[in-house]
Amino acid sequence: MLKLNFYGGGQEVTGANYLLEHTKGDETTKVLIDCGMFQGSKSREEKNNASFEYDLEGINALLVTHAHMDHIGRIPILVKSGFKGKIYSTPATRELAKLMFEDALSILQHEALYDNTKPPYEEKDISNALSKWESVEYYDKLPIGGLEVIFKDAGHILGSSIIEIYADGKKTVFSGDLGNSPAPLLRKTDPVEDADFLVIESTYGDREHEGREDRKLKLERTIEDTVGTGGVLLIPAFSLERTQELLFEINELVEHKRIPRVPIFLDSPLAIKATAIYRHYERYYNKEAKYIINSGDDVFRFPGLKFTESGEESKAINKIPAPKIIIAGSGMSNGGRIIHHEKLYLGDERNALLIAGYQAVNSLGRRLQDGAKSINIFGVEVTIKAKILSLSGYSAHADINGLMAFVEKSANTLQKVFVTQGEPKASLSFVQKIRDNFNIDATSPQNGDSVVLIS
Ligand SMILES: [Zn+2]
Repeated sequence: MLKLNFYGGGQEVTGANYLLEHTKGDETTKVLIDCGMFQGSKSREEKNNASFEYDLEGINALLVTHAHMDHIGRIPILVKSGFKGKIYSTPATRELAKLMFEDALSILQHEALYDNTKPPYEEKDISNALSKWESVEYYDKLPIGGLEVIFKDAGHILGSSIIEIYADGKKTVFSGDLGNSPAPLLRKTDPVEDADFLVIESTYGDREHEGREDRKLKLERTIEDTVGTGGVLLIPAFSLERTQELLFEINELVEHKRIPRVPIFLDSPLAIKATAIYRHYERYYNKEAKYIINSGDDVFRFPGLKFTESGEESKAINKIPAPKIIIAGSGMSNGGRIIHHEKLYLGDERNALLIAGYQAVNSLGRRLQDGAKSINIFGVEVTIKAKILSLSGYSAHADINGLMAFVEKSANTLQKVFVTQGEPKASLSFVQKIRDNFNIDATSPQNGDSVVLIS
């Protein structure tokens, strides 16, 4: 018997959490796949702090696809709540997860102090989680009870995985988040053939990305234009992957003298620490990136680039005359140092803001992208005169064409496809496309649903 239960990520982008139960004879094996935080929605806090709906006793393991918070954010709470199993992921995911937990905890402690409450977990819950956490390399076979597990490269962020689980000769696949291949640094998403059951993400289940081919050219032109007018280019960036991709691309442009030399600041402590972790895992990079590194180039360091870790260093950026480029978090301008720079620089028509990723509804980044004429930042009304530009080619997610191509590889064997981790509109549109194109039984499950895969 093989049964799949959905506890998060059903008809919503965030909160991925699935439970797979296998019974053969008198042996039962239970594994969780991801344990993510709910983000964005109004009920997120309630859902993040709610107790888990399944019995934590008897769960053998938690398998982690990648280190984004919507896939790992609740792991310290899971451990605090009594989870006793092992945790498995690639070594890069483990290392990045530690960084993400510590960053999240410092924010939670700060908020708790402000609200006079207690944070949902403590430092010791993080160290307990890490003490249970073992690394597995891509393609190694990992036996867990009656199951066999293989991690494959999802090409989404460093260490990201597609998880294949074999039970009774059938293959169940969890896509995690699928990358937007080819990406500047990472390898292409591994194809998965012969899957019987598939749980697949649908963040961009109803959209196509534009301009992946000429994204670097657009980046080059944007930098040239802004620098040419003596302006400041602000790039709000996500700490994992996007920042490293941008540094890698700008490094190339600088090394080949395609852009004039100007000061470039990476103004995010989290992104600086994540970049250090990226350096440990060059073995996960694609051939082109490895070639550049092997030729002696440090891809995250080039003339003009400065990492500003402390608050003082960050403030000192303002004193450096334009033109200059500032990369800072958060990626959606809903927190972090980028907001301080936006307050200072968006009121000047010589400057530009380059948006290089998904902007959630209601985020400051989304309002700017949608053409807001003025915004209030820290009580100051800023009239937007800077150019607001978007580069969707740098998205870390596969678009609908990438998702369909992934399903197609197993179209002959798939019995059921479960479309998750997307807004309802995106999920349902993707479901319909799978049915129409491949004649496969596809659904978009809701949280709380259970399906018997093998009876
Ligand atoms: Zn992700």
